[in-house]
Amino acid sequence: MDARRLRHFRKMLLQEVKRHAQLVSEDQAAAIDAAGDGAKESADLSLRDVIEEIALKLGDQESQMVADIEQALMRIREGSYGICARCGRPIDERRLEAMPTARYDAVCQTAIEEAKGNSAHRSL
Ligand SMILES: [Zn+2]
Repeated sequence: MDARRLRHFRKMLLQEVKRHAQLVSEDQAAAIDAAGDGAKESADLSLRDVIEEIALKLGDQESQMVADIEQALMRIREGSYGICARCGRPIDERRLEAMPTARYDAVCQTAIEEAKGNSAHRSL
């Protein structure tokens, strides 16, 4: 994925985490803005601190969503964003537009859910 598309998804993820941050406090939302602005590695690390702090203050479900966003942001930094974690193929960008935290392509997601469905009820 090219740098321009990555910036686009990073922005979507930051907006999403900011929406959660606002549930905690305006200060936290402002901290996301401040940390998300930097392009340096140190900025990503402070962003991670802010996100983890927010996650601690949210309920279980919200906190899991915030953790997923943080992981997606880390994948952007590491260069593995948009690649299926199961088969290694690129994830369809339309899928990422709908769900920017997606770790798997549609084929693998279905396979994983079917496997889960056979053993226990869905965790989502
Ligand atoms: Zn896959």
